[in-house]
Amino acid sequence: MPAITVDDILVLPRVPEPDVTQAERKVTSVTTAPSGYEGEGFPVRRAFAGVDLKRLDPFIHMDQMGEVDYGPGEPKGTAWHPHRGFETVTYIIDGTFRHQDSNGGGGLITNGDTQWMTAGGGLLHIEAPPEELVMSGGLFHGFQLWVNLPARLKMTPPRYQDIRAGQVALLSSGDGGALLRVIAGEFGGHAGPGITHTPISLVHATVSAGAQVRLPWRADFNSLAYVLAGSGTVGAEKRPVKMGQLAVFGAGDAITFAAQTELDILLLGGAPIREPVAAYGPFVMNTRAELQQAFEDFQAGRLGSVPAVPAEPRPGHDVI
Ligand code: MN
Repeated sequence: MPAITVDDILVLPRVPEPDVTQAERKVTSVTTAPSGYEGEGFPVRRAFAGVDLKRLDPFIHMDQMGEVDYGPGEPKGTAWHPHRGFETVTYIIDGTFRHQDSNGGGGLITNGDTQWMTAGGGLLHIEAPPEELVMSGGLFHGFQLWVNLPARLKMTPPRYQDIRAGQVALLSSGDGGALLRVIAGEFGGHAGPGITHTPISLVHATVSAGAQVRLPWRADFNSLAYVLAGSGTVGAEKRPVKMGQLAVFGAGDAITFAAQTELDILLLGGAPIREPVAAYGPFVMNTRAELQQAFEDFQAGRLGSVPAVPAEPRPGHDVI
């Protein structure tokens, strides 16, 4: 799992372990992500399936993409498709994905890079492996997260941020047991490179086998932990978790997890938006009328145009 790593974790700034007066967040649920297919048929795990949107708020949806080892000719992406009303965050751990959108944003992301796309008022985009990777095949692993926008920002102009692996803030847990990559937002007094409309923290942690880690987590954020690889436990109560499982934490100031085998875990939290959510296919709005408007605007070409025939939005499975 390349992402970004360091030779000596002990030279990194450390996030002190919270003291015993800090309230421990209890684990309220552990769910297993069902497998499915996205876009033109790449394998995903639906990380948030079965969890109430109120517990996820401000997050809407997340797919772990892969991990898959493609043969030559097998790598797949998506067709052109629209979005409105939220932001997508795509993080590539292994492999390469090319992004292009009708607002002029785009780029190639690979091994630890992130792309942050604010769809806002709307655009069309395509996400696909580059031609040379289609030819060669190879490892593909990453995730795409959807971060909601509040009503006042649903129609904000689109924005694209290309975040290179080297820009990610690298930290160590207090005893050096975990490498912490701050991809976006603030964590432990350190800011990641991603600029977000909705305040969030997004951290990719790699915990050494046998290590236990207790970290501060802002009390005004929710707290989710998704296991990208490996196995271990979450919470002081030591609930077992393994690859493809999501833990939702309750209220408090600190979270605890431990690695049995080396554990790659994605820590997510944000300030809940607490507004009605009307989501269908590629659009995330506040009301049904706004969803209807989004479809009409898409059909009328008002979400942008591309030098290709855009795919029709389809509900459910075709949402990335
Ligand atoms: Mn998309």
